[in-house]
Amino acid sequence: MSADMVIVRREGLYCVPGDFYIDPWRPVERAVITHGHGDHARGGHQHYLTAAEGVNVLRSRLGQVDITGLAYGERVLHNGVTVSLHPAGHVLGSAQVRMEYRGEVWVASGDYKVEPDRTCTPFEPVRCDTFITESTFGLPIYQWRPQQEIEDDINAWWAANAAQQRTSVLLGYSFGKAQRMLSGLDSGIGPIVCHGAVQNLNQVYREEGVWLPPTLMVDQVAKSELGSALVLAPPSAAGSPWIKRFGDYSDAFASGWMQLRGARRRRGVDRGFVLSDHADWPGLLSAITATGAARVIVTHGSIAVLVRWLQQQGLQASGFDTEYGDDEAEDAAPAAASLSLATSAEGGRDA
Ligand SMILES: [Zn+2]
Ligand SMILES: [Zn+2]
Repeated sequence: MSADMVIVRREGLYCVPGDFYIDPWRPVERAVITHGHGDHARGGHQHYLTAAEGVNVLRSRLGQVDITGLAYGERVLHNGVTVSLHPAGHVLGSAQVRMEYRGEVWVASGDYKVEPDRTCTPFEPVRCDTFITESTFGLPIYQWRPQQEIEDDINAWWAANAAQQRTSVLLGYSFGKAQRMLSGLDSGIGPIVCHGAVQNLNQVYREEGVWLPPTLMVDQVAKSELGSALVLAPPSAAGSPWIKRFGDYSDAFASGWMQLRGARRRRGVDRGFVLSDHADWPGLLSAITATGAARVIVTHGSIAVLVRWLQQQGLQASGFDTEYGDDEAEDAAPAAASLSLATSAEGGRDA
């Protein structure tokens, strides 16, 4: 039996024969980055390799660092390891990392979802011997409704608020979730106002050719129009003076965690929309099956539950202890913090 191609080191996931790291959490010389969320794409590395679609996302976060962009499916040889990146369907530029060495193939998924959306290249299953998978929503209770239904719910909520001249404040992660929601909004209902953090990423998406409806900054909207407006902001803006200017608004939070009973109340918002950029339980299982892998290594999320389930299916399964966080909660709010205690102690969630 050959030695493991990828192991966990103090710095992060490490490809041994390739001598590079995948989404390392400490500064290294060579980092392959699966996507631009803060816990996967950290600053301080000397060389970055990421999907070409995600280069400008990384630049918007990390500034002028040394980044090489690789088209999806393009192969590079590094220390005898053939490396290629394949769509993960999570956010713009997200990728799974395929590594082939002496006939053996490993794939590290980063974060992924299997339902296609309009704002990034859809997830592509990649055959491999060993698959490293995330497990953010790795419990059977997590089963998403089709996104069209969620989008219809969001537009209906907005329209009802607009009819009462009440601003709709929709909270969701500023990179990925916000643009995905934007792409499904019915701009006929009223103006769409974006927080600066969201607007910055909108710009990157548009430059990559992703269509989004017209969006405005708050100072570009007449006060008389705010009652029919939808405001898109990151969760960290909740309760801020920036939000309070909208007066007697209705607010909502969009996250996979909203499927949990009590999560909306703990967030203190009027509505919860169950919309996640991660695979649900059936999605995780179908993605794992599609790889054909005999061995699965589970990272951040419900490691113990998913490992046990995979072992019962006759697969070789184990966990990796990583420092990846929870992009569905963003700012480690009480809802997700209490959940992580309730479901699993491992995985380094809420970093
Ligand atoms: Zn992510
Ligand atoms: Zn993650």
